[in-house]
Amino acid sequence: MAAAPRRQPGLPSARERAVQGRSWRLLGEEQAQPERRRRGRRAPRGRMVIAKAWALKKHFDGFPKTSDFDLKKIELPNLKDGGISLSSVAELLLESVFLSVDPYMRPYSRRDLKEGDIMIGTQVARVVESKNPAFTVGAFVVARRGWRTHFISDGKDLQLLPSNWPESLPKSLALGTVGMPGLTAYFGLLEVCKMKPGETVLVNAAAGAVGSVVGQLAKIGGCKVVGCAGSDDKVAYLKKIGFDEAFNYKTVKSLDEALRKASPDGYDCFFDNVGGEFASVAINQMRKYGRIAVCGAISQYNDSVPQNGPYVQIPMIFKELQMEGFLVTRWNNRREEGLQALLKWVMEGKVKYHEQVTEGFENMPMAFIGMLKGENLGKAVVKV
Ligand code: NDP
Repeated sequence: MAAAPRRQPGLPSARERAVQGRSWRLLGEEQAQPERRRRGRRAPRGRMVIAKAWALKKHFDGFPKTSDFDLKKIELPNLKDGGISLSSVAELLLESVFLSVDPYMRPYSRRDLKEGDIMIGTQVARVVESKNPAFTVGAFVVARRGWRTHFISDGKDLQLLPSNWPESLPKSLALGTVGMPGLTAYFGLLEVCKMKPGETVLVNAAAGAVGSVVGQLAKIGGCKVVGCAGSDDKVAYLKKIGFDEAFNYKTVKSLDEALRKASPDGYDCFFDNVGGEFASVAINQMRKYGRIAVCGAISQYNDSVPQNGPYVQIPMIFKELQMEGFLVTRWNNRREEGLQALLKWVMEGKVKYHEQVTEGFENMPMAFIGMLKGENLGKAVVKV
């Protein structure tokens, strides 16, 4: 994919900026402004800020295409002052630094968006101007403001990165291993699978953002872990990060045989990211009282016609299985607990991470489509 231009034409080079003795930051396409870094002070807003944003031009029909997206420019208004009234808002201006591309955007776009709306999504953003004393210029936050380079907020929808975030750790991890996907793995395994030491855990889409954390947390929890992924490189990665067994589900002759070979005694926990045919085969290999966490169904998200599959009731009854769908937002009140646990394991080297970083905001649609096709190893993010 194309690399992002490091410097835009017409703007000063690093050397020129140093000579001028000022700190410059890119704002939109046409903007370069000096910035003051003191709390609550704002950079001068002599010129308007133009945000770039990707809109859903046309609802996806089957697999998304780049022509389904439209790049827009949006002029942002000046920030509102807090004023003296308690009810008035004090705003801040943010610039996206990393944006996430996630599978949920495919089904949720149909549910939540009209054609022409800006694509949904989460970013790590930096505060570039602030009239809100709760947010210092230069602070990093996680926001759910869609595919935009810049946006204005009153601060209520922003989550500061944990205060103990280490300087050495990429901030993009707040969208992955130490963010929503990591929390999905954490709560899905602990609260839905209810894994116990000595059990066998199966996870699919195992080399992705959620799956790679699931496998590593299950190892920390004293389980045997089997993972499946869609390329030999991904399988090699899974073995490197500690999975006991891993195979390429695209090249095995029989999924049923491959699962049986990986764990002849079956599976106690199945963390399902894929659904469809894979799930139907795997459910038959669950052990008595097994638990299935239905996390995602990526094999079905691009279907124009719903799939018909074998029905699951018979194994569910005879093996007395529990199968539970969940959304990570159920544990929003325990977010800090999950983030601190993940941060600690990452810093101790017990949870390893890999990111698939696409350079350039203009490549958001390609990064999204690539992730749905399985081109990502670990978390797919876009660096603006
Ligand atoms: P990933 O990083 O795992 O990326 C998606 C991966 O899915 C691809 O890399 C690809 O890997 C795999 N995939 C794509 N198409 C298929 C297919 N037809 N069959 C099998 N695998 C396929 O994404 P995430 O980790 O962010 O998400 C994983 C799952 O978890 C998704 O289903 C997502 O919707 C769900 N999710 C659910 C949440 C919840 O709250 N319930 C929260 C977050 C995610 P490969 O090469 O291995 O095929």
